[in-house]
Amino acid sequence: MAKICYNNLMAKLYFRYGAMGCGKTMQLLQVAFNYEERGHKVCVIKPATDTKHGTKLYTRIGPERETDFCFDRSTDLYDRISKDYSDVQCVLVDESQFLTPAQADQLMLVTIKLNIPVMAYGLRLNFRRTDGGFEGATRLLQIAHDVEEIKTICECGHKATLNARFLDDKLVADGPDILIDDGKTKIEYRALCPACYERYLSMTDSEQLTEV
Ligand SMILES: [Zn+2]
Repeated sequence: MAKICYNNLMAKLYFRYGAMGCGKTMQLLQVAFNYEERGHKVCVIKPATDTKHGTKLYTRIGPERETDFCFDRSTDLYDRISKDYSDVQCVLVDESQFLTPAQADQLMLVTIKLNIPVMAYGLRLNFRRTDGGFEGATRLLQIAHDVEEIKTICECGHKATLNARFLDDKLVADGPDILIDDGKTKIEYRALCPACYERYLSMTDSEQLTEV
């Protein structure tokens, strides 16, 4: 059965990236809905590292959905999809920044060998500005056929491009990619423009506390 691939061209790997809270998951759910409304099957997946909402995709404004499967860093995504989901019309990946570079390449193989389009949604950058960021996002930026930004705004009204981690209302520019919530520290992420990120970073502790 012919897959939906735009203008009957080869299926493509799409990377849709944006800062925190730009509505990536919402867009993914909309695409899944559009396929299913027309009677097509999709495969919705996310990394098991994102355990906040179990195996579900969750959006702040309401819609949610169960995934078809969650994967860990050792999952061969091409193997799994070719075995169990070769009949779908589209593969949708949430939190794709957590892919390994090899898994991003496996998604490319899905488009080439199975002719199934893959739409990967994720962050472009982690919350630090000074390192290589998420390896999954970096690989997707390198190899995807089609890369597009989902825009969102900073609290000042300008375009937000950076993700900031706030611990007890204080911007913290260093630490692990994934932070375990110990229930004692308030963990919050905000999408900021570079100027606001710099402003929070240069504030003293007391200034930051009065700002929020
Ligand atoms: Zn700003």
